[in-house]
Amino acid sequence: MDIHEYQAKEVLSNFGVGTAPGALAYSPEQAAYRGRELGGEKWVVKAQVHAGGRGKAGGVKICESEHDIQAACEDMFGRKLVTHQTGPEGKGIYRVYVEAAVPIEREIYLGLVLDRTSQRVMIVASSEGGMEIEEISAERPDSIVRSNVEPAVGLQDFQAREIAFKLGLEAALIPQMVRTLKGCYRAFRDLDATMVEVNPLVVTSDNRILALDAKMTFDDNALFRHPQISELRDKSQEDPRESRAADRGLSYVGLDGNIGCIVNGAGLAMATMDTIKLAGGEPANFLDIGGGATPERVVKAFRLVMSDDKVQAVLVNIFAGINRCDWVAEGVVQALREVQPDLPVIVRLAGTNVEEGQKILAKSGLPIIRAGTLTEAAERAVGAWQNDLTQATRMRAVT
Ligand code: GDP
Ligand code: MN
Repeated sequence: MDIHEYQAKEVLSNFGVGTAPGALAYSPEQAAYRGRELGGEKWVVKAQVHAGGRGKAGGVKICESEHDIQAACEDMFGRKLVTHQTGPEGKGIYRVYVEAAVPIEREIYLGLVLDRTSQRVMIVASSEGGMEIEEISAERPDSIVRSNVEPAVGLQDFQAREIAFKLGLEAALIPQMVRTLKGCYRAFRDLDATMVEVNPLVVTSDNRILALDAKMTFDDNALFRHPQISELRDKSQEDPRESRAADRGLSYVGLDGNIGCIVNGAGLAMATMDTIKLAGGEPANFLDIGGGATPERVVKAFRLVMSDDKVQAVLVNIFAGINRCDWVAEGVVQALREVQPDLPVIVRLAGTNVEEGQKILAKSGLPIIRAGTLTEAAERAVGAWQNDLTQATRMRAVT
C-alpha cells in the first residue's frame, strides 16, 4: 500500500526526521488560507497523488502570495496529473499540501528498500539528489552509497556516520544526518514498510536537514498490525476493480481477455492463465481467492469476475490440499445458485476428496461443465466461449 507525501512526512517526523511546516487542503480557498496560517513569504504547493515525477509534470508550484497559491490550486484540483509513473490515464488530484518553502543548499537522494539478495534492508544514498534514482544510476553510478543493515542490531551510529561521510557532509551536520537515517530505518522496520524514499533530502542554507519529499510503501500482508497506517489508504489513487477485490481479501488483477478465472493459489492462477492462452483463449483476470476457498469467498469471487462485462466464460480451478474438494464444491454450487451467471462455467477440482466433490457438482443439477485436468478445463472454457460466440452470431443473423 502506498501513502501520500504529506502522510509519509508525518510518519517520518514522528521518528525524528526533520520536515518543513505544512498543511493539507481540499480546495483552492482552503489552500490559500493554509498558506496564511503558515506565514512566511514563499510556499510550495504540491499535488498529493501516489506517484513521483510531479515536479516535471506541473504538480509542484512555488508561490509567492496567497493569490498565487489559489491560482496554482485552481489549475490542479479535479485534474488528472500524468507523470512518468502514473501511466497515461494519470491520477486524480483531490488534495494538495501547502508547505513553507525552504532555501535549499544541497539536495541528497535517500532510499531504503528490501534487498532480496542480501535479505536485508538496504540504504541507498547519493549526493546527486533531485534526480530520479534510475537517472542517477545511469549517469552518476559512482555517487551511489549502499549499505546493508544487520537486522539483529539495527542501524548503528557508526554505520550511519559512514554514510554521511561518504555523501561529503560537513562535520557539523553529521549528528543530524545520523538522526535522519536512524529515524527512516526505524520507521521502515517498526511499520513493516517495503520502501522509504526521501528525494530530495535537503541541507538548507541555515544548516538544517529536511525531508523535502517523502514516499512510503507498506507490506499489505502486515497492515493488520498497523491500523493507524491502514487508515491512510486513499482509494481514489487505486484501480477501482483492484481496490474492490482488496476490500474483499481477494488478490485480483484485471486483464483484457474474455475468460474469467477463479483459482486458489497465486502459482496455480498463473498456470491457469498460461493454459488458457495455450488453448487459444485470453484470460480476463488473475484471481487468487486464497487457501480457504469457503463458499462465501467463492460467491465474492464470482461477483467480482462477473462485474467485468468482457467476461464470457468462467473457469474455476481449485486444488484442494489442506482444503477438501467436497467443501469447495458446496461453495461453487452455493455461489452459482446465488449469482446465477448466464454464461458457461467450467469447474476443475483436484486433490483431497475429489470424487465426493464431483458428485456434489453432478447432483446439483446446475449446468456446470466439469473437467478432470487443467488442460481439459482450459480447452473446454475456450471451446464454450467460442461456441457461445458462434451461437450469438447465429442469433444475430436470425433476428
Ligand atoms: P516529485 O517531482 O514528485 O519528486 O516532487 P518533489 O517533492 O521532489 O518536488 C520536486 C522539486 O521541487 C524538488 O526536487 C525541489 O527542487 C523543488 N522543491 C520542493 N519543495 C521546495 C522548497 O521548499 N523550496 C524550493 N526551493 N524548492 C522546492
Ligand atoms: Mn521527489
